[in-house]
Amino acid sequence: MAICEGVQICGGTSAQSVDQQPDGRWLVQLRTGELSAATVIAAGLGPSSVEALLGGVSPAVQTWASDAVPIMAACLDACLQRIPEPQQRFGLGVDRPWYVSFHTPYARLVPEGTGEVVHVAKYVPSVELGRTPAQDRAELEGVLDRMQPGWRDVLVNARYLHRMTVSHATPAPGTSTTGRPTVDGAGIAGLLVAGDWVGAHGMLADAALSSGAEAGRQAAALAMMAA
Ligand SMILES: Cc1cc2nc3c(=O)[nH]c(=O)nc-3n(C[C@H](O)[C@H](O)[C@H](O)COP(=O)(O)OP(=O)(O)OC[C@H]3O[C@@H](n4cnc5c(N)ncnc54)[C@H](O)[C@@H]3O)c2cc1C
Repeated sequence: MAICEGVQICGGTSAQSVDQQPDGRWLVQLRTGELSAATVIAAGLGPSSVEALLGGVSPAVQTWASDAVPIMAACLDACLQRIPEPQQRFGLGVDRPWYVSFHTPYARLVPEGTGEVVHVAKYVPSVELGRTPAQDRAELEGVLDRMQPGWRDVLVNARYLHRMTVSHATPAPGTSTTGRPTVDGAGIAGLLVAGDWVGAHGMLADAALSSGAEAGRQAAALAMMAA
């Protein structure tokens, strides 16, 4: 639908820098070429990455970058021939910040009837960020040992991801989501941000989508005013 409306999608590349030109337009330097635009939305990037792209031109973005405390997770995906304990498809840690969830069959991650995929994750406490991949993987495998004894005998394949960003910033005590940066909070005309750390609405993907929609509305309004 976006393409029908004239949107150009540049895949297989990445933004390297974003600079405002003397005429107020933005020059986005890509790994493979460049783009010029009246309005830029920095989406899908955390505040530190936005700051790196802008190179220090916005004091507000600098503050966001230095204040942000990302939420990190250690993740283990295991594909099993079958579920050893079918009654125990989901579990939440009470004494430890982990969860276990069989995503199949609700998500079609394997050809039907050929196996099951279980996801085990731990939200990494700040004091444990320095733990090694071997330490955290052993903890997650230990969770499966308790929830699904025998899982190692039916293991087809496993993938461990040590530090995944769940959210680029943790809502702060006292202000929560209302204290998050706003879409136009960088304070520079034509520069908007969106992501799971932006806007007062929602958490995680919900926040990314709602701030993305708001950024789109504001960009469209700016374009109409300029027309
Ligand atoms: C293990 C795990 C479980 C999660 N579970 C849930 C859940 O159950 N529910 C939920 O709502 N959320 C969940 N989340 C969070 C959710 O995935 C994020 O909040 C959401 O993906 C953020 O969307 P986004 O579009 O802002 O960023 P992303 O989805 O991270 O997309 C960013 C995109 O930008 C691209 N990019 C980065 N830098 C550049 C650059 N310089 N130039 C061009 N492109 C660039 C990246 O390649 C990527 O494609 C989970 C996250 C993790 C890690």
